[in-house]
Amino acid sequence: MKAKHLIPILAITAIPWITSAQINLGERALGALQKGVAGFTFSNEQAAALAKEGVRKLDSANVVAGPNDGYTLRLNRVFGKHANENGLQLNYKVYLTKEVNAFACADGSVRVYSGLMDIMDDSQLLAVIGHEIGHVVNEDSKDAMRAALKKSAVLDALASQSDKIGKVTDGEAGQIASVLLDSKHSRSQENDADTFAYDFMKKHGYDVNAVESAFLILAKLSEGGQSDFISRMLSSHPDPNSRAQKARERAIADNRYKAYVQKPINNRAPVVKKPTTKRPTKKKKK
Ligand SMILES: [Zn+2]
Repeated sequence: MKAKHLIPILAITAIPWITSAQINLGERALGALQKGVAGFTFSNEQAAALAKEGVRKLDSANVVAGPNDGYTLRLNRVFGKHANENGLQLNYKVYLTKEVNAFACADGSVRVYSGLMDIMDDSQLLAVIGHEIGHVVNEDSKDAMRAALKKSAVLDALASQSDKIGKVTDGEAGQIASVLLDSKHSRSQENDADTFAYDFMKKHGYDVNAVESAFLILAKLSEGGQSDFISRMLSSHPDPNSRAQKARERAIADNRYKAYVQKPINNRAPVVKKPTTKRPTKKKKK
């Protein structure tokens, strides 16, 4: 799952929203862009700046779980300790939707859909999160965005005036958001992200068998009636059964294989008990 991974049926509506982001693409880069030079590359910083604009747009177009929402609290617990994995600066949010999806962007933004959290326990969720972190670490998110942007008019529009992009308009941010959701990773990038996820689980002492299990859940969903919610995730990724098999083979080779049993899933916020003000017990009149 990746930046484009699983995507929401998102109507990117024109929400009035202006950013003052300065994105400096550099004169040489601009010249190359305008000439459509194939070898054009942009830096990680530039990719991150553009991704950030797109993510802001996506955040505004989706229902983001609030700080006290049970989904947010669970993600804090599961993901919080990995927000600086591999020296990255990751930020994460939950989109409240039935869709089963998660994606990561070049700026370190990871978005997890509540539909995914409804069907995966903590370790399975970590396997998916590990996969997403793998895309960021491997710079797949940047590569995918660059490739998609080159095909769209966004960069041309951004680059048309000067090497300093004064403002990304709402429309441009919307286009970047679409690019984030629609860019694809190659099979080998997906495979590498899966390997990263497995190693991530192992390194942190989580049950590596949750990786196989997470993919088996996706495989099962794809056969069931809920496939609408995960069709995009599956269409942008290799066959979940073969991904599960690879994870199982790694676990067997590691001498760690054991059929995984899913743990209870709890996305509810703990009930905060209000201090009960005790009424003075009335004395019964005798
Ligand atoms: Zn992926």
